[in-house]
Amino acid sequence: MTEPDRYHVLNPATEEVITTLELAGLAETDAAIARAKAAFDGWRKVAPADRARLLRAFAAAVDADRERLAATEVANAGHTIGNARWEAGNARDVIEYYAAAPERLFGRQIPVAGGLDVTFQEPLGVVGVIVPWNFPMPIAAWGLAPALAAGNTVIVKPAELTPLTALRLGELALQAGIPEGVLQILPGRGPVVGQRFVTHPDVRKVVFTGSTAVGKSIMAGCAEQVKPVTLELGGKSANIVFADADLAKAAATAPYAVFDNAGQDCCARSRILVEESVYDDFMALLEPAVHGVRVGDPADEKTEMGPLISAAHRARVAGYVPDGAPVAFRGSAPEGPGFWFPPTVLAPVGHDDRAFTEEIFGPVVTVVPFRGEDDALRIANSTEYGLSGSIWTSDVGRALRVARGVEAGNLSVNSHSSVRYSTPFGGFKQSGLGRELGPDALNAFTETKNVFISTEE
Ligand code: NAP
Ligand code: MG
Repeated sequence: MTEPDRYHVLNPATEEVITTLELAGLAETDAAIARAKAAFDGWRKVAPADRARLLRAFAAAVDADRERLAATEVANAGHTIGNARWEAGNARDVIEYYAAAPERLFGRQIPVAGGLDVTFQEPLGVVGVIVPWNFPMPIAAWGLAPALAAGNTVIVKPAELTPLTALRLGELALQAGIPEGVLQILPGRGPVVGQRFVTHPDVRKVVFTGSTAVGKSIMAGCAEQVKPVTLELGGKSANIVFADADLAKAAATAPYAVFDNAGQDCCARSRILVEESVYDDFMALLEPAVHGVRVGDPADEKTEMGPLISAAHRARVAGYVPDGAPVAFRGSAPEGPGFWFPPTVLAPVGHDDRAFTEEIFGPVVTVVPFRGEDDALRIANSTEYGLSGSIWTSDVGRALRVARGVEAGNLSVNSHSSVRYSTPFGGFKQSGLGRELGPDALNAFTETKNVFISTEE
């Protein structure tokens, strides 16, 4: 017998141990995959209206549990209570949205000679969902909800750092009547449990959100079995501010577009591009806005930014702000225990400075000037990433030209929104592969089957 692999789950705002979990090893992972495989045939045959009803009951259970889920995320991930409530509500909304899908997974009837041709959207089988620590609840829900709705069974591997809300979602699914084995939550290490999703032939699809490096290795591994993958990877998104924008609003909102969730957001607008003629005015407005970001106890309703997720991650973020770094200005952060890092604005920076090119995934933003639309697009697109971005201008034509020109999956004009459960979300270039949320996500969890029925006598 080998020793069980135990993991201490920490509160990143206090560094206290919340609980200790046993992590699954290879044998437990294979057993979970076998259970999911055994549950598949029954789940795919549940009548569409009944599968819809079960998913609605699951959404209702999440809704009733929102305060507990939110409090758990505050403790486990250091998310502000306001954000954590939104995240629990988002998980509910995503499950409810896809509860409509079982009865609407339409195929087509295609005109052909000599018979009837119809298509079916068939479920794939067992789906493995690998979730990162930055948005544990929403990202679990974006994978599991459409996968279950389409008739697949699902195993979620939460991040080691943040397993608690995913485990709770699993309990709520069972309470709502989703049969045993249809949705399992399996805390474990990425290279053990996550990697087994890649290599096990009975897992027929992998959904991965996390770093680009691990995403590439998962895609390469899945090639071995021609296993479909959805990847949501990193970002280095541009927030492009033109001289004709509402500058006060652009500057007041820019900190929240990058420092929300302490910058641990793949959509963080971590490169601010400002038209040269208003650069100084913008910086003068940005400074008080950055100082105004309230950093502290995430359970306090007024707090706008909490700690980073771990000591190791804080050290990684701090590596982008070495002694002598060009800090234009900085917000505050609490002293004492907790993985705190103050909101930090770096300027001037060169276009090849690693703070300007690499995903920092912390509360650090770089600001650079540009001259005109072409220059803005050239700078915005000079990155391997392409997840999101914002455009601030009062000229509708320019807004559309630039939105069409930025190589990214999710753009917002005079706003910083990226995520709505009813609209597609995903990346261009090395930010990912495939789309989550919205009407198209179901395609990622089904195969199209074509059936021809002869009408000849
Ligand atoms: P990561 O290693 O990519 O982790 C993401 C998930 O993948 C976790 O559940 C992790 O499990 C799992 N994993 C790790 N190695 C694996 C493997 N070989 N096979 C299968 N699954 C594996 O990300 P990280 O190390 O936590 O963060 C590093 C950087 O990635 C961040 O600083 C940020 O730049 C980026 N990131 C991006 C996103 C995003 O939303 N796009 C999210 C998180 C991180 P464990 O928990 O056991 O490691
Ligand atoms: Mg890692």
